[in-house]
Amino acid sequence: MESHYTLVLIKPSAVQRGLCGEIISRYESAGLKLAALKLEKFPLETFAELYREHQGKSFYQAVVEHMSSAPICALVLAGPAGIVEKVRALNGATDPVKAAPGTIRGDYAAAMEPDNIVHASDALESAAREIRIFFPDFMPCS
Ligand code: ADP
Ligand code: MG
Repeated sequence: MESHYTLVLIKPSAVQRGLCGEIISRYESAGLKLAALKLEKFPLETFAELYREHQGKSFYQAVVEHMSSAPICALVLAGPAGIVEKVRALNGATDPVKAAPGTIRGDYAAAMEPDNIVHASDALESAAREIRIFFPDFMPCS
C-alpha cells in the first residue's frame, strides 16, 4: 500500500487537558499510523510560517501567539490516498459549534477559544510543506 502523509498538531489546550492519548487513538483506530511525533513548545515564527495563508486576518496574531505560548504535540500520520480528507473528517468542522458529535472537535471543544483542539493539513501539498516545518529531517519510508 502506498503511504501518504499529513501533519496533525494537538493544540495547547488539548495537551494541557491530557487529551493527547485519546486523540492519537482516534487516528490509530481509523487505521492511520504514527510516522513521527514530538511534544514541544515552538517559537512564534514557526506558527507565522504555518499560518502564513491567514496573515492579515483578524484572528492571525492571536492564533500565532496562542500556539507558541505552550507545548503542542506534533504528529505525522501515514495512510492510504485520501488521508488528508480522512483526518480532517475525524477532526470535524473548524468551528467547534458546528463540529458534529463523534468528531474530535465536536467531542472536546465547545468554542474556538482557547483553541479548537487540533490542526490538520488541508492538501497533500500543504502537508509536505507543513511536515518540513515541524520535522525538517522527516524521511517518508515505504
Ligand atoms: P482549519 O484549522 O480547520 O484548517 P483554518 O485554516 O481556516 O481552519 O484556520 C486556521 C486556524 O485559525 C483554526 O484552526 C482556528 O484555530 C483559527 N481560526 C480560523 N478562523 C477563525 C475565526 N473566525 N476566529 C478565530 N480563530 C479562527
Ligand atoms: Mg487550515
